[in-house]
Amino acid sequence: MNHTIMQYFEWYLPDDGKHWENVKNDAPHLKDIGITKLWLPPASKGTGTNDVGYGPYDLFDLGEFDQKGAVRTKYGTKEEYLAAIKALEENGIMPIADIVLNHKAQGDETEGFTVLKMDPENRQKPISEPYEIEGYTHFYFPGRQGKYSDFEWHWYHFSGLDYDAKHNETGIYQIQGEHKGWADNEEVDTEKGNFDYLMFNDIDYSHPEVIEETRAWLKWFIETTGIKGFRLDAIKHIDRSYIEEIIKKIYEEIGEEFYVFGEYWNADYETKADYLEDIDYSFDLFDVKLHMNFYQAALQNENYDLTKILDKTLIDDQAWSAVTFVDNHDTQAGQSLESEVGAWFKPLAYGLILLLRNGLPTVFYGDYYGTQGENGHGGYQEILDKLLHLRTNYAYGDETRYFDHSNCIGWIRYGNEEYPHGLVALISNGTEDGFKDMSLGEYYAGKTFVDYLGHYEGEVTLDESGNGRFMVHNKSISVWVDKDSLI
Ligand code: CA
Repeated sequence: MNHTIMQYFEWYLPDDGKHWENVKNDAPHLKDIGITKLWLPPASKGTGTNDVGYGPYDLFDLGEFDQKGAVRTKYGTKEEYLAAIKALEENGIMPIADIVLNHKAQGDETEGFTVLKMDPENRQKPISEPYEIEGYTHFYFPGRQGKYSDFEWHWYHFSGLDYDAKHNETGIYQIQGEHKGWADNEEVDTEKGNFDYLMFNDIDYSHPEVIEETRAWLKWFIETTGIKGFRLDAIKHIDRSYIEEIIKKIYEEIGEEFYVFGEYWNADYETKADYLEDIDYSFDLFDVKLHMNFYQAALQNENYDLTKILDKTLIDDQAWSAVTFVDNHDTQAGQSLESEVGAWFKPLAYGLILLLRNGLPTVFYGDYYGTQGENGHGGYQEILDKLLHLRTNYAYGDETRYFDHSNCIGWIRYGNEEYPHGLVALISNGTEDGFKDMSLGEYYAGKTFVDYLGHYEGEVTLDESGNGRFMVHNKSISVWVDKDSLI
């Protein structure tokens, strides 16, 4: 069966501690619609209950200790998290944890140390002499009192920070000392001179104590939760050789079925291809360029050349490593990487990622159930259910693409032994209805096709050679299937 990930959160979920419970209750439904892997938001205690999870304070606190204002996280308690994971397993869905290894937020106490203030636009360029500041870099987790780990974090476990408590100033401060400095440029993204530093206290993975503690946490986390995969946050800011090493270690200990994919937010094809090579293809990457193509296609309407929709994407050239998506919690309206795909194009984009042969597609919670917040919108559950049904039951076997017209493209999936029916998909961004003469072969001779999505009325009956003219309305998607397969 085809695999499909669902990203089961959006940025503006309510801060009510009910989300893990919702996951548990929704698990049977998710199984029914064909979801096989669920990407859960970060489970560790962040800066407060309103923290989406990307400001981690204590990785060992999964909603168990009274820290940062509450026992629970935004999503609930540790017990509820474990119950959600159990419910997913019982429904045959692989639970995947989002883990944030790049930084730690809001230490318990300040410490004094020496820094260089760096140019925010070129992090290799000092804009000060070395001087002493104070930062919230001492983490001793008074609420947890050494349970699971008695490790305390200090300034020398970090490479940089953004707040100087001594002078009450913000900036990008590189911590000075023996063996200190950013990760090498070969190890991290080179935007802004060197993109090791992202936010909060940046963890220094060249420090042996950090490596040991992170390894201990990973082991504890996997054993405690029974999680079966990771979504790695912000990996363009973390030493790639270290990430590769820890992931390979996990495969060694648990097995290759542990599934890992990473967020390397860069649309440049070469950068991604190089990264995949550097990490020895040990985990998959989000296809950021494909998302950007969708975003542009939606903005440009009929002026976008649909034959280029897969240009420079991972799905086309590194298909075995591509995790595809339409939108996520960062690209949705109002967020840091805002580039939300326009509403009219979303069903077309989902048609592409769910029904093309390449890539492991991700359905975004915010697209399925809708998003909240100022710029919130309704969900696309009705059409996504249909596309998921097509993915689960029809989108198999070989593929022929008809990417031959700038306003109308299509493709055939021929089916396989287990799922023999196949499908014909067409999408259009034109101002008028589109059509395509397509050749399915003699196996399909005389068969009658209907649009499963119900967008285009009528039927297409193939001739004795299996040829037919398939239709699609303007700015729409139609997916034609053998009428007999619906009975
Ligand atoms: Ca970093």
